[in-house]
Amino acid sequence: MSGAGLSGGCQCGAVRFRAARLGCASICHCRMCQKAFGGFFGPLVTAHDLQWTRGQPKYFASSNKVRRGFCADCGTPLSYEYGGAPEIAIGAFDNPEAAAPVIQVNPADKLSFFDGICSLPVRLPAEQPEAEAFKASIVSFQHPDHDTSEWPGRAKR
Ligand SMILES: [Zn+2]
Ligand SMILES: [Zn+2]
Repeated sequence: MSGAGLSGGCQCGAVRFRAARLGCASICHCRMCQKAFGGFFGPLVTAHDLQWTRGQPKYFASSNKVRRGFCADCGTPLSYEYGGAPEIAIGAFDNPEAAAPVIQVNPADKLSFFDGICSLPVRLPAEQPEAEAFKASIVSFQHPDHDTSEWPGRAKR
């Protein structure tokens, strides 16, 4: 770890950020967040005194009021910016546990199966040895969960 605050970045490491302090953490069910994250909801936390410490996000204006930042190299969704303090994708932080959501917003677009997700059956690792063997053979090119002075992983793509 280097520097104070809460660090994070994209999967490939081309874009890194640090926030001095976090505000409200939420999950947003709106259709735009589903699309922008390619997920079931948008997990976002207000980031005060945000600095981009390596690279810069590319932006897509998803409406006349909001732009969404993402890594142009690897596609990781990073920010939601509407003019106030930016909101950052919780999973992009090096420690997402620092931003446990406290509220759900835009429930009108919530996917019908969302409430049942936590009660889905769980397949244990011992039940899928092939998948475990595949996992054991993986060499990760993902940026580690801390700041780096250099990140050669980018060159491996
Ligand atoms: Zn990236
Ligand atoms: Zn949303």
